[in-house]
Amino acid sequence: MVLGIDIGGTRVKAALVSEDGRTISSAQAPTGTQPASFVANLNNMLRGLQDGHPPVTAAGIGCKGIIDVSSTKVLTLPGSLHHLEGQQLSTIIGPVLPPRCPVIADNDARIAMAGERQWGAARDCQDAIMLTLGTGVGGAVMVNGQILRGTGGIAGHIGHLTVDPDGPKCICGNRGCLETFFSALAIESEGATVVHRGLPTQLTNANPTCQDVFTAARNGDAVCLRIIQRATNYLSGAIAGLLFVLDPERVILTGQITEAGDMLFDMVRTDVHQRTLPLLRRAVPIVKSQLSDPSGTLGAAALALTL
Ligand SMILES: [Zn+2]
Repeated sequence: MVLGIDIGGTRVKAALVSEDGRTISSAQAPTGTQPASFVANLNNMLRGLQDGHPPVTAAGIGCKGIIDVSSTKVLTLPGSLHHLEGQQLSTIIGPVLPPRCPVIADNDARIAMAGERQWGAARDCQDAIMLTLGTGVGGAVMVNGQILRGTGGIAGHIGHLTVDPDGPKCICGNRGCLETFFSALAIESEGATVVHRGLPTQLTNANPTCQDVFTAARNGDAVCLRIIQRATNYLSGAIAGLLFVLDPERVILTGQITEAGDMLFDMVRTDVHQRTLPLLRRAVPIVKSQLSDPSGTLGAAALALTL
């Protein structure tokens, strides 16, 4: 049995997971905004979770930002968890783990890929690409069964693939990154613009959610359909480029935007296949992630199993 921990902006979640991927027990706690309350909340939760169970053999941690996998040191982490920068996650949770229990940590997108490799959509796969389509776009790339980390731990940041060299400025410092065109934030901002400009649309809220825009498009709203088509065109273009570079067995999509279901998948499949069939001579499957694991604890546990 291993421990899987997911450190998010608002909540910290953890689970005891068996080797076959069953969650034995799980818990969550508020992340807290202060360093002291973060450590206290996390460690109290981990103590309570392990109470009455046999000792865990390893722990895996998923965390946003850039993490040094071997040392578990947080290298870069903007936002509310900024105070974790420079800290070693294994040192923070060490006091509540069994003696000499190994700890590994990685960013949330690579954790998700580790989970899919162990128990999900990449189970029988050596080469796969995964995109997490949410507020922003994250990603992970698996080549020959290894999840790529790169020289500085940045590999897999598919959301920052340049899809328009002269496009809008991105938070990463570059211009025209994929996530400035395709992400929940980008789609929501397009939705808000059409409401603000008084275009004929079913959207009524001045600040529509990404899901509102998809729902309106599905219900025949031509303005919203155009927003989705344009955004998805950038996503498909980026995926097509990745297929030519990496030639994977499959592409896995996950994250809140995939709740749009067939509408999104049908558009992406059709467009990606049109772009890539002549060179690849096969339709690379584009599938949804299989782990019902919105908390990320299973992926973190899968990473722990590699220790
Ligand atoms: Zn960027």
